[in-house]
Amino acid sequence: MNNQSIPKAEYAVVGGSGTLSSNFPAQLPDEDVTVLEDNLHFQTPYGESAAFRLFSVGKKKVLTCRMHGWRSGVTRADASRQVFWTFREAGVKRILSEGGVGTVNRLLDLRDFIVPDDYLDLSVRKDVMLDGRYLLIMRDALCPEMRQALLTATKKRFTGRIFSRGTYVVTDGRHFESPAEVAMLNGHADIVGQSIAPEVYLAREIGACYAGLYFTVNYGEGIKKWSHQAMADIFYDDAPMIGEILLETIRNVDADARSCECLSLRKETLLKDVYNEVSAKG
Ligand SMILES: [Zn+2]
Repeated sequence: MNNQSIPKAEYAVVGGSGTLSSNFPAQLPDEDVTVLEDNLHFQTPYGESAAFRLFSVGKKKVLTCRMHGWRSGVTRADASRQVFWTFREAGVKRILSEGGVGTVNRLLDLRDFIVPDDYLDLSVRKDVMLDGRYLLIMRDALCPEMRQALLTATKKRFTGRIFSRGTYVVTDGRHFESPAEVAMLNGHADIVGQSIAPEVYLAREIGACYAGLYFTVNYGEGIKKWSHQAMADIFYDDAPMIGEILLETIRNVDADARSCECLSLRKETLLKDVYNEVSAKG
């Protein structure tokens, strides 16, 4: 499939644990949702992409890609660049993500829902970018407008605890953190996972809004014992609800009338000479 075949879509969902276990959105009963194309692979400058699905919510088109980060033979950096390069070609303006996370804040329990407003990137993937043309200011990196829409949709469907702010710390994984690592992170972050960076940088680079809904599926080591079965139960039990929350958020956010500052926090780089040199080589 060549690049001309990338469909136009203004919305995207970067799937995580919830959508992975629910075949999102195919198994949801919503009458305004239609899967338009499936198993789409695109040729990108970073290699062939993982499989995308294109679906519609009313008149809105949505591209989704499930658990793109972990593919054998593809670095996590390239896997992420393939996805966001495709989003840029498609014209994506609003990106939602979801996923299970571990707890760092000792006040959190399993099945708490969090819409984080900040992140701390402890991964070592600092050079993940598409073309380096922009200076990316990471103020309000998680779009305030989309976070509010996610919270409104979550409150309608979930009766448990929902936190409207919090810091997501990103580690490289895939292993979980040791008790000493969780103890060190405590006070600096609330939840820990592996899926908000580099996505949040790449979203800003393509001028798109990015926000996510995360739910706790395990306690950080040293906080409280947890079982793998409980984690699996949360993934499968809550997946349809998470899918519905994402769909409602898409219905309620406009791609063209953005009231947030996300796009203006991307500036032309002042290092033009460096950028031109890199472009010439690339
Ligand atoms: Zn925004």
